[in-house]
Amino acid sequence: MASTYLVKYAEIGIKGKNRYKFEDALVHRVIERLDRVDGKFRVQKEQGRILVEALSEHDEEEAITALTHVFGVSQVCPVSEIVDRDFGHICEALVEHIKTRLGDTPFTFKAFAKRSDKSYPMESPEIAIEAGDYIINHIDTAKVDLHNPEYKVFIEIRRAAYVYISGYPGVGGMPVGTAGKAMLLLSGGIDSPVAGYRIAKRGVNIDATYFHAPPYTSERAKQKVVDLARIISEYTGPITLHVVNFTDIQMAIYENCPHDELTIIMRRYMMQIAETIARKRDCLALVTGESIAQVASQTLQSLAATDAVCGMPVFRPLIAMDKQEIVEESQKIGAYETSIQPYEDCCTIFVAKHPVTKPKIEQIEESEKALTKIMPPLVAEALDTVEVLKINPR
Ligand code: ATP
Ligand code: MG
Repeated sequence: MASTYLVKYAEIGIKGKNRYKFEDALVHRVIERLDRVDGKFRVQKEQGRILVEALSEHDEEEAITALTHVFGVSQVCPVSEIVDRDFGHICEALVEHIKTRLGDTPFTFKAFAKRSDKSYPMESPEIAIEAGDYIINHIDTAKVDLHNPEYKVFIEIRRAAYVYISGYPGVGGMPVGTAGKAMLLLSGGIDSPVAGYRIAKRGVNIDATYFHAPPYTSERAKQKVVDLARIISEYTGPITLHVVNFTDIQMAIYENCPHDELTIIMRRYMMQIAETIARKRDCLALVTGESIAQVASQTLQSLAATDAVCGMPVFRPLIAMDKQEIVEESQKIGAYETSIQPYEDCCTIFVAKHPVTKPKIEQIEESEKALTKIMPPLVAEALDTVEVLKINPR
């Protein structure tokens, strides 16, 4: 069992002067994630890497799963640590490390050495060659293949020495908290949780807003959104979920506007309310799960009509994805089973049989004039009665 892990990151390595901020954020995210793993760990920065040392018994698989799921992590390598850096000890530890992981299976390898501490008496090429020779002499099943090795074997000389073979790929992206905050319009569907995941993966903190229309939508539908927020929070950390009671607003639109324009008008109000909450919460953008042409309200004309009421950027990370691709990503992040539970969301009840697919903004604005008087107090009431839920990862 490994007791030490080297955590590698890719993109944040190129951030120039701000690099330390990204590294510090990644260290924090790693610490937070490991808090949910059974065991005690010490996490520290180590020249272009993060070093995680287990201070107690723990399950290696659980630790690796946790670490590979932190945004910003490109690879996780369980390593053996040789504190005294004696080259003989390094070679022994290396052979032991390989035997534990590969058993008797024949394998080909190539050795790579990296000497971050230049005061170490051997240079990198020499370390690689001698360690490679030692492996061949001590493991019968090992064969060198310089061009297409099955395993890369690494020796890194830092304050201590570390040896390891190929690691586990991480999710990539940027550490959450390094790119500001955005407001996700989170419904109970398949798309919006994936959209939130994607934006958070770029380092953005996520708040969420859900429009609830009791009694047309049930408590179960709301619970499903809470469950989805919790699933996303496994990746993003805690999420503040704002539940807006949308019933009266929806009814007002239903009673006063042409029915083929209901969805688009409703969506325009959702965006405005989400934006008001977003501003209070210091969010810099709105995020939705829309994708071109998926439904009537997602044609280019409809998206333009929705954007027309927004004063902050609207990010739609799924805009050019096919449904099947979104479904696959939803399965990958573990949201799919929850998303397909059958509880209705508020859009399905007030949908017209033949919604407009090419709304003209002027026409929609004209229809909305019927709401000029009734709507402001309803919106104010909805904003006054927002239910705020703190959603924490499990
Ligand atoms: P999803 O699968 O995310 O529900 P969808 O394909 O069902 O999306 P729509 O219902 O048209 O599409 O919604 C488009 C987007 O608008 C959603 O991805 C979500 O961001 C937002 N949205 C829709 N309904 C709600 C709601 N009740 N509360 C919050 N946001 C919503
Ligand atoms: Mg939906």
